[in-house]
Amino acid sequence: MIDLHCHSNFSDGILTPKELVQEAIASEVKILALTDHDTMAGVKGLREASLNTSLTIINGVEFSVNWKKCDIHVLGLNVDHESEALQNLIKQQNERRVNRAFQIADKINFSCKIESVYEKACSIAGHERIGRPHFAQVILNEGLVPDLQTAFKRYLGRGRLAYIPTVWTNLSEVIRVINQAHGHAILAHPLKYSLTQMKLNDLLKEFKEAGGHGIEVVSGDTTLADMNMLASYSNRYHFLASTGSDFHGKGLSRISIGRQPQLPLNCQPIWHQWNL
Ligand code: AMP
Ligand code: MN
Ligand code: MN
Ligand code: MN
Repeated sequence: MIDLHCHSNFSDGILTPKELVQEAIASEVKILALTDHDTMAGVKGLREASLNTSLTIINGVEFSVNWKKCDIHVLGLNVDHESEALQNLIKQQNERRVNRAFQIADKINFSCKIESVYEKACSIAGHERIGRPHFAQVILNEGLVPDLQTAFKRYLGRGRLAYIPTVWTNLSEVIRVINQAHGHAILAHPLKYSLTQMKLNDLLKEFKEAGGHGIEVVSGDTTLADMNMLASYSNRYHFLASTGSDFHGKGLSRISIGRQPQLPLNCQPIWHQWNL
């Protein structure tokens, strides 16, 4: 199996990079990319843990990006970690994430009457690159919602009580930086943005024109119908195809690492571009 999209406890995943390597090997994954949100801090540990194993590691990162009125996710795969442009973008995105976290914490404090929200989220995350899932866990721990989904529905989802619109990077900038870092820019889970077909076509066209290389045809538990639709989009726009579980940890993700469905045969797998 090949898994080019998963998360560690350096972003909003549960497992350490070392535990991810163990899980990946148990699932017979051969090629693995860790794609934490706006950080590559986990990559070093992942590489160390994979030494002398059958696993090939690909550098990865998942960037949050503003496109029109949506927040979309773009993966940088096989990027040069040392690239200055990449390091700068990661630093900027982290600053945006931390600023946003303070504002979300204030909103949760106001609407849920929870004290020390930011500190509680940091203690759950074990770092300061707080994502909304950490805040969802704070709200759940206080007994205000029955599950994480409801925390998103009531508080953290777009337009909800504790939602903070954020200025992330944009499509042309993120693709330019990934290209500068000699990587491949992949549009993550294209069907997760609730776009109309017309809007999705606009996004794919813009992504292509900006120099994007491919789309995720398989993400987590994609249905057969969705996979086939994404495969035909990838062919229509001459995109390479990527695959990943988007695994965040047991209890958070239905599909474990490397256990997503197989990429349809009529796609051009991204990893065929790499000298592995
Ligand atoms: P952030 O990058 O901090 O805005 O958080 C986005 C992350 O929240 C995604 O990568 C998912 O891991 C998680 N997420 C988004 N929507 C939901 C939802 N409705 N329920 C549970 N988790 C979600
Ligand atoms: Mn996530
Ligand atoms: Mn994502
Ligand atoms: Mn992801």
